[in-house]
Amino acid sequence: MTKGNFPVDRFKGIETPFYYYDVELLKKTLQTVKALTNKYGYAQHYAVKANANHHLLQQIAAAGFGADCVSGNEVKAAVTAGFPASKIVFAGVGKTDKEINEALDLNIFCFNVESLPELEVINELAGKKGKVAQVALRINPNVDAHTHEYITTGLNENKFGFSLTTITSALDVLKTMANVTLIGIHFHIGSQILDIEEAFKPLCDKVNELQEFFEEKGIKPVHINVGGGLGVDYENPNTNPIPDFETYFELYHKNLKLRQGQMLHVELGRAIVAQCGSLISRVTYVKHGDEKKFLILDAGMTDLIRPALYQAYHKIENISSNLPEEKYDVVGPICESSDVFAKDYPLNETKRGDLIALRSAGAYGEIMASRYNCRELPKPYYSDKL
Ligand SMILES: *Cc1c(COP(=O)(O)O)cnc(C)c1O
Repeated sequence: MTKGNFPVDRFKGIETPFYYYDVELLKKTLQTVKALTNKYGYAQHYAVKANANHHLLQQIAAAGFGADCVSGNEVKAAVTAGFPASKIVFAGVGKTDKEINEALDLNIFCFNVESLPELEVINELAGKKGKVAQVALRINPNVDAHTHEYITTGLNENKFGFSLTTITSALDVLKTMANVTLIGIHFHIGSQILDIEEAFKPLCDKVNELQEFFEEKGIKPVHINVGGGLGVDYENPNTNPIPDFETYFELYHKNLKLRQGQMLHVELGRAIVAQCGSLISRVTYVKHGDEKKFLILDAGMTDLIRPALYQAYHKIENISSNLPEEKYDVVGPICESSDVFAKDYPLNETKRGDLIALRSAGAYGEIMASRYNCRELPKPYYSDKL
């Protein structure tokens, strides 16, 4: 039996829960992005934090993407998977001396700097190595991403980046520093953004305004990095497996005024990998409560934390049953009452041992798995290696 895109018969011999990645879909997604960035002359990076799975990173590197990293180990994972150091950017509010030194040794493309003390440390550490580090300043554009408050990052007072008022002093300090050179400005306003016009148009307006401010100061940042944040259709992964990259890139093309010689960079995470991954689980028990029926899966919040952490929705399918639908609360085995994937969810009538797919789990899934309750980490399997 195959249901949807899943080789269910092959799954039967695999210990659950596990992640299953549709590598063909990933490749199609990468080609879609590449075609558009080629058309507009933009540079594309992949935000490694969405999923640092080695096999996926290799595909993404091979497609010609750069890597956006937020820790020293992400930088190492990117290099190991084949991303050239010359295409690696390193962001994050708390880069340690060790992480900065390692990135300096690798000669990465750019540090996306988030505070004045960080800028001072990079200048000092680069100086000790006799190097000049390329930096971009991360600026908070004070743009509302219209998404969940935990994944909104572009508003003025938060831990990320420089606010519009502190940027001037940062530029003054930069002028006095010998071992850093400003090559760009960086933004990232939030994640899972579906209203492309509403969120990214104000970002373009802000960047245009800032460009004038920079020009008055006689500064021309060559690289304009607008971050990531494009959302995916969690409700309809079958009909919308590839996000609306056309509208996304066209919006930047129409609204962002690049100066001669300037390069636009994007760093997409979720939009690249979310739809190619599913968490595959078995039903351990079907429990009949007073009124409800519970499906107790062998996967829980330790394997996929998004529902428990952000009340996120994942489409759920019983891929081993074609019986008429019934409603179930779908829960995990972890000793936390938030370990719930969905309530009153319609699924083909389900029996113990059935296989359940939690869809659109390729981003912020496997990488966020934990060993709470001493559980094993879920293993990855791939459509091109099964
Ligand atoms: C998380 C992050 C991204 C990627 O975000 P997505 O919503 O997954 O596209 C890009 N840039 C930075 C700086 C980030 O922190």
